[in-house]
Amino acid sequence: MRISRLLAFALPLILSTLSAIAQDNNASHSVAAALDKSADPCVDFYQFACGGWMKNNPIPSDQSIWSRFGELAESNREKLRGILENAAHATVGGKRDPNEQKIGDYYASCMDEAAIEKKGIAVLKPEFDRINAFKDKSALPDLIAHLHSQGINALFNFGSGADFKNAGQVIGQADQGGLSLPDRDYYTKDDPKSVELRKQYVEHVTSMFKLLGDPADKAAAEANAVMNVETALAKGSGDRVERREPERVYHKMPVTEWQGLTPSFSFTRYLTGLGAPTLSSLNVAEPNFFKALDAELKNVSLDDLKTYLRWQLVSGQTDSLPKAFQDQHFNFYGKTLQGAKEIRPRWKRCVAAVDGDLGEALGKVFVEKYYPPEARARTLTMVKQLEEALRRDIGDLPWMSEVTKKQALIKLDAIQNKIGYPSKWRDYTTLKIERGDALGNSLRSNAFEVHRQLMKIGKPLDKQEWQMTPPTVNAYYEPTENNINFPAGILQPPFYDFKADDALNFGGMGAVIGHELTHGFDDQGALFDPQGNLKNWWTPEDEKAFKERTQCIVDEYDKFVAVDDVHVRGKLTLGENTADNGGLRIAYMALMKSLADSSKQPAEIDGFTPEQRVFIGWGQIWCQNQTDQMARLLAINNEHAPGNFRVNGVVQNMPEFQKAFACKAGQPMVSANACRVW
Ligand SMILES: [Zn+2]
Repeated sequence: MRISRLLAFALPLILSTLSAIAQDNNASHSVAAALDKSADPCVDFYQFACGGWMKNNPIPSDQSIWSRFGELAESNREKLRGILENAAHATVGGKRDPNEQKIGDYYASCMDEAAIEKKGIAVLKPEFDRINAFKDKSALPDLIAHLHSQGINALFNFGSGADFKNAGQVIGQADQGGLSLPDRDYYTKDDPKSVELRKQYVEHVTSMFKLLGDPADKAAAEANAVMNVETALAKGSGDRVERREPERVYHKMPVTEWQGLTPSFSFTRYLTGLGAPTLSSLNVAEPNFFKALDAELKNVSLDDLKTYLRWQLVSGQTDSLPKAFQDQHFNFYGKTLQGAKEIRPRWKRCVAAVDGDLGEALGKVFVEKYYPPEARARTLTMVKQLEEALRRDIGDLPWMSEVTKKQALIKLDAIQNKIGYPSKWRDYTTLKIERGDALGNSLRSNAFEVHRQLMKIGKPLDKQEWQMTPPTVNAYYEPTENNINFPAGILQPPFYDFKADDALNFGGMGAVIGHELTHGFDDQGALFDPQGNLKNWWTPEDEKAFKERTQCIVDEYDKFVAVDDVHVRGKLTLGENTADNGGLRIAYMALMKSLADSSKQPAEIDGFTPEQRVFIGWGQIWCQNQTDQMARLLAINNEHAPGNFRVNGVVQNMPEFQKAFACKAGQPMVSANACRVW
């Protein structure tokens, strides 16, 4: 939760050919093709901006959502594939550098399906033996430490992160975890869809145990045991909306106090087994969860606990197991949960695995090949323009006192801009990648990352580090570091196009930059000071005015229907919606300034004024199609509203939009109760 991202969900990408946008360098043409000119922009602007795109871009069969983000990520993925195939084949003559050896051999091992099939489930035998040898609950901390050290999901989470109230310092962080469905609500809600999904989940777990060789009746009993353990953990877990409040997940305490919450499980023994540095205190994000964990550990039988751990081990490693496991995993998580029709081709899953496990080794080559220095310079110029616009916007706010404005500007000035890729690349020297050992490569990569995170505890926070890899089509603001981060992967059309006019680029990349800057001042970001500390810098009157204004946004988005009877969750999406509204406003302001400063800008392109094109640019980055299953899943879990509401929810609050398209009072894109925070 520490990261506010433009897209919380890494969109899985499909389509085996280069996307239309990547092949088409004519920005003006692709803008026109995406429009639906039969739609009235004042009635449904999203339909106007994206109707053509939606019609011409059905969801590929191996996807559950297809969007402009997805198209671009697909295009990046093709490039990564080329890099990886080169690295995988260049084995003769020892010409590969250590990073090329790692990414090449990782990819080749992942792609060697015949070897994976031949090894079968025997690859997991040492891990199963370890679980089977577990004879006494008092030894559980050793076993969990071993599983966690390899990144295997089990019972709870432990890692590191900035101390919210002393943000320059990294501390240990313990949190809820151990579930296999996307949220605790999936275990606790009683509506027919939730009940049905639980039934399908238990069937899936049963099938996986059968694939491991267990008889049908035993497998069914095991699946129920898994469900019981996970349901107990879910009941102790915190609510997704409540967990957006930083104070609610900040409970710094001595290790002895953490131990007091879960007397049945020795955390000292666990931390030793894990190889964590010595801790005196840590943040326990959800104390109630650790109480519930204790109750469950007392209640559950040893055999059921072992069953649950076997399940977690297998479920997390299916891509390194025979095809039957991969297909079964897809049937539930891809098909049932998300509505995709086909499993993603192997190469796409392998590219994603290398990006996930060796992201900066792969990203370094990606950047060298595809990210020219001038792209970074252009982005930096735009960031400065957006910062300047936000500065003017804050200065003009009618509802904020001069005292708080001054503080807000200090925070704005302190925001660090990170663009493209890290200034210092991660060193993977100690990570061993072996050709032909797909599972071992995956587990050793997990172990490398777990160890890397643990070693940060007790040290100063490294604000130069990135939490996304360079090819990622996404961006984020980090409240505890007060910085904005734009990976190289997103700094391309349709977000930013060298050949396009300013208006379009300000509506795309400009608004994305504005969005991330505004996160520093959304309902979460505004709670952190310029140094990233959870510390109030508001006067009580200004805080009250701010909350009234954010409540307007909560109420507005609560009314939107995502699918069937499922509404967008106004409170869950508040931070993102605030950032969207602020981001497009300051992008618009920055464009107006840029137009005023330049005499060379065209008055109209394709019949649209710059004032219209900035909104079209915004609308078109959010074009998407998704399955009903995905719409439901995202409405429950995603902190971002669906694309259509990210567009219409913002423009209906903006008199500038209504003026640009000559909309009249009473039309749907003219809100009678327009919200404005920033
Ligand atoms: Zn965001």
